This record gives sequence, C-alpha cells and structure tokens, in this order.
Amino acid sequence: MLVTGGNRGIGLAIALAFQANGDQVAVTSRSGQAPEGLFAVQADVTDADSVDRAFAEVEAAQGPVEVLVANAGITQDQLLLRMSEEDFTSVIDTNLTGAFRVLKRASKGMIRKKKGRVVLISSVVGLMGSPGQINYASSKAGLVGMARSLTRELGSRNITANVVAPGYIDTEMTQGLDEDLQKQYKAQIPAGRFAEPSEVADVVRWLASDEASYISGAVIPVDGGLGMGH
Ligand code: NDP
Repeated sequence: MLVTGGNRGIGLAIALAFQANGDQVAVTSRSGQAPEGLFAVQADVTDADSVDRAFAEVEAAQGPVEVLVANAGITQDQLLLRMSEEDFTSVIDTNLTGAFRVLKRASKGMIRKKKGRVVLISSVVGLMGSPGQINYASSKAGLVGMARSLTRELGSRNITANVVAPGYIDTEMTQGLDEDLQKQYKAQIPAGRFAEPSEVADVVRWLASDEASYISGAVIPVDGGLGMGH
C-alpha cells in the first residue's frame, strides 16, 4: 500500500496502522524522509513526473500498489475577498489535482492486478463549508465526485474508491490554530474533543480490508458527530 504524505500527521498514523496489520507499506514525503522503519520515497503531488518516479520506485521494491491512500493536503486560509487566485489554485493543485495524479498512476497497476482499494482523505469541511476555506472546502468536496466517478468507471474491476472525511484531528495542521479557536471548535463537536490520528487510520485500514469489499463511493465521516446530516 502507498500513502501520500505518510511521513507525519494522519498519513503517518495510516501507514503505521497498515504496517501493524502486516501489510507492505510505502509512504511519500516531499523530502523523501520518513520516521525510521517506513519505506519512504520522494514525491511532490503537484508534479506528475515526480509522482511517476515515486510509483516506479515503490513498484520495483514492492510490486504494484494495491491500496492507495491519497492523503497529502495543505490549507491556505483566507476570506474570499482577500483570497488570491494563487491561494485558490495552489490548494486545488495539491489536494484535488494531486489526488488525481496519484490515482491515475496507481490505477494502471490496479486494473492489471484486477484489484484495488482507493481511499481519498477529504474533510468534514468539504460538505459543511467553512469561512476562510473556499479553496480547501472546494478541493475536499471535489474528492467526493472523484471517488464516485472512479467507482462508476472501475467498480466492475474489483476496485473500490471511498472518501474518509475527518473532522478535527490532533495534528500539526490543527495545532497551528489559536487556542480560543480550538476551544470554539471543540464546543461544536458532539464528542467534545479532537480525534487522535489513529482513529482515522483504523477506518482507512478497514476500508481497504476484505471486510469492506462491497463498499464503494461512500463518504465515511470520522468527526465525532460534527458533520451529522451532511
Ligand atoms: P499535516 O499538515 O500534518 O501533513 C500534511 C502532509 O501532506 C505532509 O505529509 C506533507 O508532506 C504532505 N504534503 C503537503 N503538500 C504536499 C505536496 N505538494 N506533495 C506531497 N506531499 C505533500 O496534515 P494532516 O496530517 O493534518 O492532514 C492530512 C490530510 O488530512 C490532509 O489532506 C488534510 O486536509 C486532511 N484533514 C486533516 C484534518 C485535521 O484536523 N488535521 C481534518 C480533516 C482533513 P511534507 O512533510 O513533505 O510537507
């Protein structure tokens, strides 16, 4: 299996959950580094050639990628009137087009192997919306259309594609928020807390398992109830 941005945060927790399950794991990071014990390759998801090289390296070491987790993502928050086109396109390029690049590259091996599991890491914000995140929410909502179209295109080839939509997870991305804002967010979450990255990772691992073989095109929230009804 391969997880983009598997060197830290949610991606790292996903990689470790698969590794603990006995699976062969490869992670990408922009530096090519990852915590010890993980097979890491360098990739920038905004660059198709870089993605292609990373997959070639993983395939040479581990064979075709059967499970793809498109996790790499960034935020660049700004209110609409102040958001530059560059703020918008750079987030789309990483979060949405980046997922397209890795998906396209991974699908070749999955079609040949007649087996594939794709999990796209979206966000509760993709369906609920969020002020200051028009770029991010658009990119995350786009992943839903991507997984569902893939399901219609390749569903008959034993390939599933699902979306996991985390709420607030305790990672560098959320640790960057100021404390008052964190308190405000926690007050809106029925569970009353942020999640540990491993709580997302376990759901991703399950979606890639045989137990979830007939689930495709689904959006699975892991948000402590924050997005209920969306
Ligand atoms: P982090 O900021 O902790 O990590 C982001 C990861 O994405 C890093 O591994 C980073 O790699 C990688 N990345 C960023 N840009 C690129 C790029 N151009 N090419 C390749 N890799 C890239 O984020 P989280 O772990 O918090 O988030 C992971 C995913 O989960 C994201 O898609 C995020 O949107 C989503 N999410 C997070 C939530 C949260 O509360 N934390 C909530 C909902 C969704 P590098 O180390 O090389 O920079």
